[in-house]
Amino acid sequence: MNHRPGAFRWVVSLGVVALSLSLEMLFWLFSRRRSERITNKVLFFPSEVACVEHIFSPTLPHSHVCSLPHGVDTSFSRLLRYILSACYSLDLCLFSFSNMDLSRAVLLLHSRGVTIRVLTDKVYSAISGSQIGVLRKAGICVRCDASAVHMHHKFAVVDGRMLITGSLNWTLTAVQSNMENIIITEEPDLVQPFVKEFCRLWGLNDPAQYLSSKK
Ligand SMILES: [Zn+2]
Repeated sequence: MNHRPGAFRWVVSLGVVALSLSLEMLFWLFSRRRSERITNKVLFFPSEVACVEHIFSPTLPHSHVCSLPHGVDTSFSRLLRYILSACYSLDLCLFSFSNMDLSRAVLLLHSRGVTIRVLTDKVYSAISGSQIGVLRKAGICVRCDASAVHMHHKFAVVDGRMLITGSLNWTLTAVQSNMENIIITEEPDLVQPFVKEFCRLWGLNDPAQYLSSKK
């Protein structure tokens, strides 16, 4: 009879250990499944030059007239696909934006009803080849940073869930000639600070606020 409380304690301790091990295993499985599910990619540039028409028009016949290589997966074609995965919103914070294919992707999203916000540098928005005027004409909301220091960011947030950031400006030179990098991630700990920073900069460059502060 004297052994029973000891045996009971032993069974309880064993139960506690088993439970904590199961919880730990569940947590590990959950984290593993989560990390398998979310996107975390790195792309390097310059990108191989290849035709990207099929990304814009998936039904395009293979016979279309074009001298570029086809069916090649490049850093640029991947970048385009990540951008075009936007369903609701695309926030762009770009120092320079002159790449016509990237502009085409943004216009395509706009025509699908995706809410686009573009924050860019005032001086670079006016240089020859800049796509900012094209986006504005299409009715996309653009705000320009005119502060004394450069708004030198190059990031995009897709649907508030995916961050695309790195050294790459959205120009043809950056894509095809320069050594550049971008990271594409859905890690909330990385995405959320960029969402917050975009909102802060967007508010800071609100023309209405700027005008009222000048009165
Ligand atoms: Zn082609």
